[in-house]
Amino acid sequence: MSAVLTIPHRTPGGLVLNPNPQRQDWFDEPETHRTVEAERRYRQERLAGAFRIFAKYGFDQGLAGHITARDPELPDHFWVNPFGLHFSRVKVSDLLLVNARGEIAVGRGPLNRAAFAIHAAIHEARPDVVAAAHTHSLYGKAWSSHGRKLDPLTQDSCVFHEDHGLFEDFNGVVYETDEGARIAEALGPRKGVILKNHGILTAGPTVEAAAWWYIALDNACHTQLLAEAAGTPQPIPHAMAALTHEQIGRPGGAARAFDALWQGLVESEPEVLQ
Ligand SMILES: [Zn+2]
Repeated sequence: MSAVLTIPHRTPGGLVLNPNPQRQDWFDEPETHRTVEAERRYRQERLAGAFRIFAKYGFDQGLAGHITARDPELPDHFWVNPFGLHFSRVKVSDLLLVNARGEIAVGRGPLNRAAFAIHAAIHEARPDVVAAAHTHSLYGKAWSSHGRKLDPLTQDSCVFHEDHGLFEDFNGVVYETDEGARIAEALGPRKGVILKNHGILTAGPTVEAAAWWYIALDNACHTQLLAEAAGTPQPIPHAMAALTHEQIGRPGGAARAFDALWQGLVESEPEVLQ
């Protein structure tokens, strides 16, 4: 390569321009080559941080809520928050590793039975899913009472265009894995599901994607609630919504959005990594 290309170009007005201003696609999937140990630690750090980020968004209603991350070595085990520990206080060392029978393989409980009943079924039904998130956040919960899927009302809402399901069969607290399996069925291959009269759930190929899509889905619910309360919103036509979904609905973009939050969290609350 010519040395000339690596010398920053200074404009007469004092700007220093990149020597190689090639286009970078922000939605490309990052390449990862981590050892099992490094991948486990990576997922644990993002998972612990996701709880604290959720707390900042107000997704911390009572004892409800769980985010899980599949273990990279033991794919039928997942990491989860202990029951009763406030989201804002979760550290890596607090996370529980739960096996396929709902037993705690690593860490000290207690385990939320609903977390196991819902998430075990999703991790089993979707081998591509590394992480799943579910809480009783206000807007997801309010929207869920309509028993309807979201419309593509805005650019941001298109992330979920034809990419979320609806589970209409509310049966009280989910304590049985067969109900978890039916939720997994309603989720299908999609990134989220609205649980009628209950709340919302998201799933993705990384902790970052599942967590960001949760934030985005709650926001899309909030948006549609506001828009419909104010009048009759006009959805984006299907073809344009589908194009926008393809543009901004991929996991790489979600990971970057989450990472921006996670980096700030780790800087202000470094104990999350303990
Ligand atoms: Zn719930």
